[in-house]
Amino acid sequence: MPFRPRYTGLIDKYRDRLPVRDDTRIISLGEGNTPLIRLSNIPRILGKEVDIYVKYEGLNPTGSFKDRGMTMAVTKAVEEGSKAIICASTGNTSAAAAAYASRAGITAFVLIPEGKIALGKLAQAMMHGAVVIQIRGNFDAGMELVKQVGKEAPVTIVNSINPYRLQGQKTAAFEILEELGGAPDFHCIPVGNAGNITAHWMGYSEYHEHGIVNDRPRMVGYQAAGSAPFMRGKMVDNPDTVATAIRIGHPQSWDKAWVVQKESNGWFDECTDAEILAAQKLLAEREGVFCEPASATSLAGAIKDIASGKIPAGSKIVCTLTGHGLKDPDTAIKQSTSPMLTVDATLSEVKAAILNNMAD
Ligand SMILES: *Cc1c(COP(=O)(O)O)cnc(C)c1O
Repeated sequence: MPFRPRYTGLIDKYRDRLPVRDDTRIISLGEGNTPLIRLSNIPRILGKEVDIYVKYEGLNPTGSFKDRGMTMAVTKAVEEGSKAIICASTGNTSAAAAAYASRAGITAFVLIPEGKIALGKLAQAMMHGAVVIQIRGNFDAGMELVKQVGKEAPVTIVNSINPYRLQGQKTAAFEILEELGGAPDFHCIPVGNAGNITAHWMGYSEYHEHGIVNDRPRMVGYQAAGSAPFMRGKMVDNPDTVATAIRIGHPQSWDKAWVVQKESNGWFDECTDAEILAAQKLLAEREGVFCEPASATSLAGAIKDIASGKIPAGSKIVCTLTGHGLKDPDTAIKQSTSPMLTVDATLSEVKAAILNNMAD
């Protein structure tokens, strides 16, 4: 059969499991349906019998999983007659909000921390025509302002406190269950606001309750060490990390994520910036997968827990790679150690450059 129906996004695909009506106008960019890539080199490098898959959410239309939530949030905002949306963002939410708002023909206002967002994300928000409001403060301050202004201005908040966001994001778990034919043993995921870990657990639990699968994974949430309220057991006031997407000290889904940890018998842990960047580089150099720093936190954490045996040999593990590496070219170039040679435009110089740099 040479033809199959065109993929038209996750709301169309999971219509029966999402809060939409038959006549709802769907605002979609074909998000979802991202690859689940089985790692072939890293398990060998770790020297452990583990089966690791990465869910490459960087291949969503704006380059992060935020699109899954944003297609739902903007679809519902438009259905409810809203003419403008607003969010606070470390970058990816603003990129997604800007793109889906432009498609819907409504206005996006995005509050971002001045100087602390990766260049690719800022470029996206600007190109899609969002009104970008840089604040002299961090994400947590922006989030508080958005909650207040949401009460006083005719704008719909599209941060993950908007319940439709998590509804859209739960579909990532559906896709994993369908492709693996059941749950992995462990699902490792970076945690910032903790909306995504909550959404995944919702998705896993829904298929489990409906008898589509008969098991659920243990959920493991990893934070950046300088920004790890779940490890400190309380909010963190001055979060700092190279992984700007999870530079969040006051997670909005705090209570929900603790429930996920308990129900799934999982845990939280933290990774240093050095560990995060090393995992990002390992994935890029050894598996051909380029994710942004925050995303690599899932693999960085898994590597530590595999080494310690907390994730035992024989386990099937899924690591969510939340965003694309091209989002943050500055950090990537800064930590790259690949040779960059400049030579004269002659055959002999180019040939010498090749012969001197052949792998053994
Ligand atoms: C938003 C985001 C996260 C954090 O997700 P939460 O739902 O806030 O926990 C992690 N990585 C990337 C790339 C993100 O954009």
